Amino acid sequence: MFMANSKIIIAIDGYSSTGKSSFAKLVAEGLGYIYADSGALYRAVTYFAYTNGFIDDNGVVEKIGLQKVLHKIEIFFKTSGPDGRSMTYLNGSCIEKQIRTSRISGLVSRIAEIPFVREYVDEILRKMGSDKGLVMDGRDIGTAVFPNAELKIFMTASPEVRARRRFDELKLKGAKDTYDEVLAALKKRDDIDEHRVKDPLTKAKDAIVLDNSCMTMGEEIDWLNAILKPNFNLQII
Ligand code: C5P
Repeated sequence: MFMANSKIIIAIDGYSSTGKSSFAKLVAEGLGYIYADSGALYRAVTYFAYTNGFIDDNGVVEKIGLQKVLHKIEIFFKTSGPDGRSMTYLNGSCIEKQIRTSRISGLVSRIAEIPFVREYVDEILRKMGSDKGLVMDGRDIGTAVFPNAELKIFMTASPEVRARRRFDELKLKGAKDTYDEVLAALKKRDDIDEHRVKDPLTKAKDAIVLDNSCMTMGEEIDWLNAILKPNFNLQII
């Protein structure tokens, strides 16, 4: 029997550009929980590897060199700015903007498929969940990082809808990528994420699917509240 008002872990997994982060942030905010973006850690490692010559533009990784230095780097999240946004820091510098470029998005799956990188990131993620009261989004949170999470959600939407969202987002930032390029890059990333050997992107058996192809954020929150109230006595406000 679940105790009323107990803190839980909500694991939100799914494909790229399904709006996981925006949804997870709102859910965390509405519950007074901590939000953790696991993808940002893989992006931060990729940014570190790229700027230090451990991965080239074709995604070829110098694994031995990377493994030697990985434990010497420090990645953490810090809330800053007037809106209290969570920012990603690498060795004391904010790299939030740098990790969101198309270059890093195009390389990150190559770094994320390396088992020792996943172990390094998993260790950081698990520490964040030690006190529960956490909403974490990613690809393997419900299957590998927190297999005992009280609530698991698997988010999906059609590739075209996701590519359109990503394209609009990039356009706002002034990027020049075409819609077709964005769609191709997204499909490639999904493919690598789904087919890697360690902890591939897959729905946990006990995850609830949220296909938001035709849903607004308000509808997604209503959908989740309908699950949270009766099962956990929790409500996003
Ligand atoms: O969520 P986001 O698009 O920022 O994630 C970037 C990449 O990091 C994913 O495409 C995937 O390769 C990797 N990732 C992962 N496992 C997670 C989160 C992200 O492999 N839990």
